[in-house]
Amino acid sequence: MRKRSKRERSGSPSAISLYVHVPFCRSKCPYCAFYSLSPAIGGISSFLQALEGEIELFKREGDLPRIRTAYIGGGTPSVLSLPDWKRLISILERAFTFLPRAEVTVEANPGSLTGEHLSLWKDWRVTRVSLGVQSLQDKDLLVAGRAHNRRQALDSMAKITGTGLSLSADLLFGLPGQNLRSWGETLREILSQGVDHVSIYQLTLEEGTPWGERPQNDLAEGYPFYRWAQYYLEKKGLLQYEIASFARPGRWCRHNVSYWTGGEFIGLGPSAWGYMNYERTRNIPDLAEYCLMVSRGNKPVCYSERLEGDRLASESTILALRTRWGIRLQDLRRDWCKDWPERMNAALEELPRDLFRSSPGRIALSRRGMRVGNSIWERLLP
Ligand code: SF4
Repeated sequence: MRKRSKRERSGSPSAISLYVHVPFCRSKCPYCAFYSLSPAIGGISSFLQALEGEIELFKREGDLPRIRTAYIGGGTPSVLSLPDWKRLISILERAFTFLPRAEVTVEANPGSLTGEHLSLWKDWRVTRVSLGVQSLQDKDLLVAGRAHNRRQALDSMAKITGTGLSLSADLLFGLPGQNLRSWGETLREILSQGVDHVSIYQLTLEEGTPWGERPQNDLAEGYPFYRWAQYYLEKKGLLQYEIASFARPGRWCRHNVSYWTGGEFIGLGPSAWGYMNYERTRNIPDLAEYCLMVSRGNKPVCYSERLEGDRLASESTILALRTRWGIRLQDLRRDWCKDWPERMNAALEELPRDLFRSSPGRIALSRRGMRVGNSIWERLLP
């Protein structure tokens, strides 16, 4: 028998999350594996039209759920002009009911973000902006092929906080030639800009990207950078609440927390992932194909899988262990296979105890455990 999701079990169409993928960037960074392209003439308009069509396809299946968190990411949503943004807002407002205290995040990059974007977003319902700062060293930004410089990043951060929106900064470490001194300097300066939230990512060389095909020399070893960020950000009051995420207490990204704890979300736009009723889907990562499929009345899905049994238990455990709250053993028993807690304990018991913070009925990773997360996940795969 098919498992019923939390939303179905409650018997009411409770609120869920929404992700919209805006697939445009001014230029392509050499390490980036996300689906995005430079906007061609008419491309953004076609995308918005198809997005509206995709929502209509969801509506045919029943009432749309209310939205408690939304994340408009990409790509670079700030490359959309103000008129395009007004159209996007109108599409979303016509289709969805947002809860009064909904968290709404927009991703932006310093090279394209303007004060007009921020005013419009604030007047709409945006609560936080996730800015792709990556580094505050011009040398790093140049090496990483970013389309902005340090001055633009500082200017964008000041504008965001000046508008009263919550600021989250994305940072990149392990870049060629990057060193601990410059990383420490970036972290120090970021904090002086009034960030509520920082996400740190190690540079990875992904297949199909220019750097994945031609690996760079002089890549910095990431471990010391990560360790320093854990020490320094927590000392300055930003708690590590997930492997890559730090926030002032209570300023967690609720959208991402929902994702890590098995919450359902609708994904819209080319390459967007969705997760509803234990089914994970991915939209086709090709704008032209996406528009074509929607125009023919077909959902633009290129991949789907149903999560159940061992696979559901394993993935849900790994996702929850990414967070500082870890996993409640009672949740494991209720939702998945009954013997998973024992199997999980058996898989983890040979590992050093200081990788975990255990409390009755709950297991979570310690700071050290977060540093070696990948080797822990390996043991939990079905
Ligand atoms: S701006 Fe972000 S999404 Fe766009 S190419 Fe660079 S890393 Fe990828």
